[in-house]
Amino acid sequence: MMIGVLALQGAFVEHIKALESLGATCVELRQAKDLELPLTGVVLPGGESTVQGKLLRELGMYDILKQKIEQGLPVLATCAGMILLAEHLSNDDKVHFATMPITVRRNAYGRQLGSFRTYGDFAGLGSVPMTFIRAPYIEKVGAGVEVLATVDDKVVAARYGKQLALAFHPELDVQESVAVHKLFRQMCKE
Ligand code: GLN
Repeated sequence: MMIGVLALQGAFVEHIKALESLGATCVELRQAKDLELPLTGVVLPGGESTVQGKLLRELGMYDILKQKIEQGLPVLATCAGMILLAEHLSNDDKVHFATMPITVRRNAYGRQLGSFRTYGDFAGLGSVPMTFIRAPYIEKVGAGVEVLATVDDKVVAARYGKQLALAFHPELDVQESVAVHKLFRQMCKE
């Protein structure tokens, strides 16, 4: 199993550590050529979606990766990564891969509550720690999207086929739980 972790910007190292602790081999995706590797899955980490989207296009990775996702390559997308997958952004005109029928609000918790940690029920996994950092949430889900977790009535995790999108950062809580990464590893095996 070879998981490509988008390593242009943001919190990618923590994902690599989490997945390697579960026995997966990870490669950093930094340029278009890296996408030629026989990937079994891909991680879109947190960070700044605007920067990531711009770099993906400048480096010629955007079209290739979008096509792979559309063809069913399993994706774990956290925070900024979820913004990259969203078909619609309620407070931004610029969408990116737009492969998942969800409407996402960026920086949805405002400045005051921008970052917080809580526990939430995750479908099939029970209670998991959830760290939010200037987080988005999902305002609307389209047909075929399964809601996996809500916090205060806001959707913070959802799945659409092989695309798993999270508003929070499971890679920052691996000391306590690797349940979400295990779920993704399972999706890559199916
Ligand atoms: N606020 C960031 C964005 O809009 C996402 C924050 C994160 O990934 N922690 O891209």
